[in-house]
Amino acid sequence: VNPGTGPTVPSRFSLALPDWVAPWLASQPATFPTQQAQVELVLGLAGEHVEQGTGGPFAAAIFVRATGRLLAAGLNLVVPASTCIAHAEMVAFALAGQGSGSFDLGAPGPVALVASTEPCAMCLGAIPWSGVSQLVCSARDEDARAIGFDEGHKPPDWPEDLAARGIEVVRGVARHAGRKVLSRYAAAGGHVYNSAATRG
Ligand SMILES: [Zn+2]
Repeated sequence: VNPGTGPTVPSRFSLALPDWVAPWLASQPATFPTQQAQVELVLGLAGEHVEQGTGGPFAAAIFVRATGRLLAAGLNLVVPASTCIAHAEMVAFALAGQGSGSFDLGAPGPVALVASTEPCAMCLGAIPWSGVSQLVCSARDEDARAIGFDEGHKPPDWPEDLAARGIEVVRGVARHAGRKVLSRYAAAGGHVYNSAATRG
């Protein structure tokens, strides 16, 4: 075979949660029937991610709304995975979809996305394509901006737009605890990546 002289490009990518996640989850309850319990799990994941130094201070998870069963968890892996799209929400969507064998996470029944911070512009865009029927957030958009993360341009009426698409939005659940994860990351000198900075 003539190897030729044409371009060689990568042909697959993979993302993996850090090794501590599976044993950490094994020590948690089997289900998370209340919104409070779901947010606490996600903030626990984000906090441990900061403690372990395994990525940015954001976590997300997909839950079956009827039972509180956890379908998938996501963490921000942008820096360790060299992947700009590896936000916690996107990782959770990918793992839940590949775990269930469907891109439409809501096909078997209503599911919720629970996030430690309100979504950035990219993740906001992905939410209607994911099949979730509820978005629950802890820290606010401005809490992430306050420590230097760029959330991108979002329409000011984004919660109303999601609601109009049939996706219920619940904001600011345990916001104080959500902010604490962000400030702990900032205080520890965590990497606040921002590729826009390299353009200017
Ligand atoms: Zn995002």
